[in-house]
Amino acid sequence: MLWTLLLVVAGIVVIRRFGAGVLAAVLAAVWLAGVAGLWQRHQAGQALLPSDLWVPAAGLAALAAGYAALIGRLRSRARARQPVGSGVAAARPRGRAEPPAPPPVSQAGSAPAGEVAPADPTQPLSDAELDRYARHIVLREIGGAGQRRLRASRVLVVGAGGLGAPVLMYLAAAGVGRITVADDDTVGLSNLQRQVIFSTADIDRPKVQAAAEALNRLNPHVGVTALARRIGTGDADLVAGHDLVIDGTDSFASRQAINAACVAAGVPLLAGSIAQWEGQVALYDPARGAPCLACVFPEPPAPGLALSCAEAGVVGALPGVVGSLMALEAIKELAGIPQNGTGAGLRGRMLILDGLWGDTRTVSLPRRPGCPVCGAEDTST
Ligand SMILES: [Zn+2]
Repeated sequence: MLWTLLLVVAGIVVIRRFGAGVLAAVLAAVWLAGVAGLWQRHQAGQALLPSDLWVPAAGLAALAAGYAALIGRLRSRARARQPVGSGVAAARPRGRAEPPAPPPVSQAGSAPAGEVAPADPTQPLSDAELDRYARHIVLREIGGAGQRRLRASRVLVVGAGGLGAPVLMYLAAAGVGRITVADDDTVGLSNLQRQVIFSTADIDRPKVQAAAEALNRLNPHVGVTALARRIGTGDADLVAGHDLVIDGTDSFASRQAINAACVAAGVPLLAGSIAQWEGQVALYDPARGAPCLACVFPEPPAPGLALSCAEAGVVGALPGVVGSLMALEAIKELAGIPQNGTGAGLRGRMLILDGLWGDTRTVSLPRRPGCPVCGAEDTST
């Protein structure tokens, strides 16, 4: 009895100190020695007692128990590796004081859904914001002041497609405080080749709904408003509630209508377009001396000359590159970089990217006297 107690205590000490594996190895060695002893006695012709059979029986039982324990441990490890819940909360760093996420989507009106981003650029950044935007804040051209300007900014993104996807994601990640996204389309299977804000599970859902949810997951500090409709010439009041409009639509009529609303509201328009392997980005701003979109593209293209992406095709990464260029220009504009002279935007210039030959160039865009959309303002300046 005393020996049994001592052996149990020694076993516990070995497990605590060296782990169960070492104890198992010691027991296996003892068991093998016992079996070898029995074999020697059998070979020497000595009679084995029934009680001697306990040694191999106990060994086999220990082996079975060990095997069951190992399988159980592997199963529980596999279960622990599976994601729990949505994975969003789990991915958030522990102990970080994030503000509560705003309600996911507001369907109409121009008021942002989440009032998490103060519109006042003099309000200090919270510890969580300082941490999140640390790589911006160390940039001399942005700093804390530029980051507060980004947070106080309101941007209208028209079109949640190939260009809209990277624009929306980078602007939300960069901490643009209020983002309105307008699009009347639903997610289709052929969109997923390039519209990286959506996933397969979003097929047939309204694009603005899926995009707004993705942005809320990305950055809970950003208030997102989803408008499941197109933006037309009559939307000057909506446009006037924003500091910048970003156009990623792909039809001439839509682009002209958005331009007219921006000119009427006096809000700058950052427009990008893509086709096949080529893309272009420009900032139209007649209220500050730059041309409007109609100054540069007065006439609709001849039928068959400007094919849509569906007709002409577009390489998958191109909207990512051009949309990211648009997001970069938007961040510069909203952070006040062209205004403070530490860099220059694309106001009155067009950046043209040739993806097939790996080339970029920039051309100046003059205003067109007598432009029917912004010409009236032109005569006074
Ligand atoms: Zn014009």
